[in-house]
Amino acid sequence: MNTAPKKSLTDSVQFLKGVGPARADLLANLNIRTVGDLLFHLPRYYDDLGDIRDMGQLTAGVLQTVRGEIVELDSKELPTGKRVLSVVVADAKGRCVEGVWFGQFFVAQKFRYGLKVAFSGKPKWFRDHWTMQHPRVEILEHAGDEPINKVVAVYPMTENLAADRLRDMVRAGLDSFGELVADILPRGLLSRHGLPALPQALEHAHFPVSVSQGLTAKRRFIYEEFLVLQIALSLRRRELRDARQAPKMPADAEMDARIRRLFPFTLTQDQDRSIAAICKDLKQDRPMQRLLQADVGAGKTAVAVYALLVAVANKHQAALMAPTEVLAQQHWNTLEKYLAQSRVRRFLLTGSLSAKERRQALEDIRAGKIDLVVGTQALVSQDVVFARLGLVVIDEQHKFGVSQRARIRKQEAGDPHYLVMTATPIPRTIALTVFGDLDISIIRQLPPGRQPVVTRWLTEKQRASTYQQLREQMQQGRQAYIVCPLVEESESLDWKAAAKMHADLTAGAFGGLRVGLLHGRLDDADKDRLMREFRDRKLDALVATVVIEVGVDVPNATLMVIEQAERFGLSQLHQLRGRISRGEVAGECYLFTGMPTEEARERLKIFTRTADGFVLAEEDARLRGLGELLGTRQHGLGDLRFGDPLADRELLETARADAIALVADDPELRKPEHALLRRNVLDRYGKTLALAEVG
Ligand code: ADP
Ligand code: MG
Repeated sequence: MNTAPKKSLTDSVQFLKGVGPARADLLANLNIRTVGDLLFHLPRYYDDLGDIRDMGQLTAGVLQTVRGEIVELDSKELPTGKRVLSVVVADAKGRCVEGVWFGQFFVAQKFRYGLKVAFSGKPKWFRDHWTMQHPRVEILEHAGDEPINKVVAVYPMTENLAADRLRDMVRAGLDSFGELVADILPRGLLSRHGLPALPQALEHAHFPVSVSQGLTAKRRFIYEEFLVLQIALSLRRRELRDARQAPKMPADAEMDARIRRLFPFTLTQDQDRSIAAICKDLKQDRPMQRLLQADVGAGKTAVAVYALLVAVANKHQAALMAPTEVLAQQHWNTLEKYLAQSRVRRFLLTGSLSAKERRQALEDIRAGKIDLVVGTQALVSQDVVFARLGLVVIDEQHKFGVSQRARIRKQEAGDPHYLVMTATPIPRTIALTVFGDLDISIIRQLPPGRQPVVTRWLTEKQRASTYQQLREQMQQGRQAYIVCPLVEESESLDWKAAAKMHADLTAGAFGGLRVGLLHGRLDDADKDRLMREFRDRKLDALVATVVIEVGVDVPNATLMVIEQAERFGLSQLHQLRGRISRGEVAGECYLFTGMPTEEARERLKIFTRTADGFVLAEEDARLRGLGELLGTRQHGLGDLRFGDPLADRELLETARADAIALVADDPELRKPEHALLRRNVLDRYGKTLALAEVG
């Protein structure tokens, strides 16, 4: 009788051969808790130890393997107190390579004079001989033996867990649980892309015979991850669009001409292209779900106004939602300018309305007496009921992600069309992951006549003369932002830094000028007041921590100093600089730095070189990783385990195309070959994307 409990991939990894409680704790640092977690803990990359070189033929900086006999063993203490282990191996001709270890004394136990070993590492020529830092060591039984593992998987590691131990555990896991892994990918897709099926893919990913075999196996997991995400997004698109009803709102040539006459400028080609895409969506009876992406100042608002007016001309109501009161007010002012000659009945729904005023407004909206409502997302989405809402424009500015998107309260008369605007350029591949459920329009081109901002990275020596120059410009009527960074750990510190900067400037370089101080400790009303004073030119300069509202328009502010610029990410710097690139006068942006790291230097060099937000966003993602680019906030979509939308972009595009085709062909994933895939999609994204349980 077999009484052994049934094995499962969700078994705790602790009971796997060679693991035990202590190692299980270490594995938990890597988020490995179950056997399944361990099997899917994939290598970061592969080392090829098969490039075996004669000691006379080494190339600096490239991973190579040498073999020889230990002829010197030495450990010494450096003047810094650091201890160094040096092990010299020599070949038959007496040529030597020195292996060097810093502080890892347990390594010394492996070695003794005369032992035959292979060292694998990247050699460096030091004074008169080759050295390898922390080479991988293989003990050879006989002279001339091939090293046993030619290709070695290199894993994301945690302290105190030797790489070889981890490999042994993975081996044990594969041997006793390998046959339990179920392949969620349909055969057809695997063979079309030449990807290995499970469990072979796991075997190849962990223990490949060649680097390319390992990489192909890894591609399979990346593809699978992208496919699952893209299917989830396709299902969500279906739910938001194909399964819903929205009013048809066509625009004809006459309407088009009437709207265009309202703008004091000719729309750019990119604006026209976005408008054409929007109009095509609005005349369908499925709700538009479109993202309008544009660099700061590229002219999104004009496009939004066009769309709002198409809705109103079609006798539907429209709403424009901004993230803050200041921005809602600003949009309102812009609308007022464009609509001066129009009879559109419009209303600004602000938090400062009295209860009575608000009640009256809500009644009018419900009765259809108001065509166009502007407000913050909170105000508009809470309890407002529209008579016949046709379009919602959501200005998200710098916020990201599907899950956070404000949703207007469900309306009785069917769904409105949605247009989401963001001022943060995101590379297409990243947009396909975080905004993958939306159709995307991009405005890249800036309106004509825009002057590029001049950006200079200055040294402390140049500070006094720069202040003098700024002072003169402010005396001639221009305005400046002085940006101080947030101190991460402590709001009070960042406040103090900004307050000190403010005190120093008013007592010194900017004495006699009107300088405001804006920081995170102020409440919203005070922040609004300061921004308003600045906009109305009652202040010459604004010392601010990064609470300057993204999107706030002060065209006369063309000067900016960014303190400790190394603390900001590229996207953030770009957003800041966007504040001073809105007028006819060329902006000037000055950077001061404390002690930038190598990475920060690279970032700042890129920043001074280009003003293209899309280029900067891509560089930012490359330098800091996707998670950082998207902000620390949990958005649920960018946290991929295997794939990197930038590095693996062609796999992402492939997976997206496959997902769209698959969902078109089997919209509820009911085919038996899609059963596991469906389960996986729902487990991973069902909640984040509010997907209905399909089937
Ligand atoms: P965004 O919302 O993308 O930051 P806005 O719509 O606020 O940009 O436009 C920024 C500025 O450019 C505004 O002052 C606007 O009047 C102007 N603008 C927009 N489109 C054009 C255009 N096609 N030609 C000239 N100026 C334009
Ligand atoms: Mg704007």
